Amino acid sequence: MRLILLGPPGSGKGTQAQRLVQRFGIIQLSTGDMLRAAVAAQTPVGIKAQGIMASGGLVPDEIVIGIISDRLDQPDAANGFILDGFPRTVPQAEALDELLKKKQMRLDSVIELRVNESVLLQRVETRVAEMRSRGEAVRADDTPEVLTNRLASYRALTEPLIHYYSERRKLLTVDGMMSIEHVTQEIGRILSAIGAAEAKASQKKSATKRIAKASKKSGKKGAKPAAKAAKSGAARKGTKAAGKGARAARKGKAGKKASRGAKKAARKAPSGSRARGAGKAKKAAKKVTKKRAKA
Ligand code: AMP
Repeated sequence: MRLILLGPPGSGKGTQAQRLVQRFGIIQLSTGDMLRAAVAAQTPVGIKAQGIMASGGLVPDEIVIGIISDRLDQPDAANGFILDGFPRTVPQAEALDELLKKKQMRLDSVIELRVNESVLLQRVETRVAEMRSRGEAVRADDTPEVLTNRLASYRALTEPLIHYYSERRKLLTVDGMMSIEHVTQEIGRILSAIGAAEAKASQKKSATKRIAKASKKSGKKGAKPAAKAAKSGAARKGTKAAGKGARAARKGKAGKKASRGAKKAARKAPSGSRARGAGKAKKAAKKVTKKRAKA
């Protein structure tokens, strides 16, 4: 599973990323955490990033792209990852596309946590108060003034990514105003819906291929219509239903519609479709034989 979490500061990306890490056993790659570590260690990158981060601006693209490229090469990224806070600009997204292509990795989905800006300030204030009460160090950029700049950066440079990934049919939108638990459930549900839908679609494809192959092998003249019938009938139905599930999820109608689509796909998919597909194929083959006998 390879995911991107997209959302303004305070939208809950970090919290949800940690939950996804536990659920899927994949790693969380947060450019913010990596940059903070670099600042703490006073590496050359950290020294460059320090002032920019403190003011709520964005660190130059080439720095974060370099960090992510190195990190994706490490063995623990092979199982999958959740990108949290990256990409944050269109050039970063384009660079990521290139990197993944080179590394022969496929991005599964981009989950956008959509929140009402008015609650963000309050959320950050709560986070700061909680950290203080636990005796933890508070982030230098967690102040109302810096948050205003971070939100402005998000609006101007990061929000265009919603369109970028929506065009590439990767975007899933979740209502980030719900409770943490509900957001987690919703993300889980859409990821399952997409997983189920895609699995069924690929099962359909291989079932169709198998039938076509079997017909070809038999060498009968009725083979072509038989395979065609199988393809146009049950197989297409299953793929359509699977597509419906994925589309519903992508449209952000995450919950019910998506799982309904996926369930429909599951119902129509493996055994049923193969049986129906084979039935149609047989009928078509019989018709051809009858016609030929008459002639
Ligand atoms: P975050 O922890 O994701 O809120 O990031 C904290 C800060 O690190 C941001 O306000 C930026 O200054 C910097 N940063 C993190 N990720 C990126 C990125 N992908 N591109 C540019 N700057 C970033």
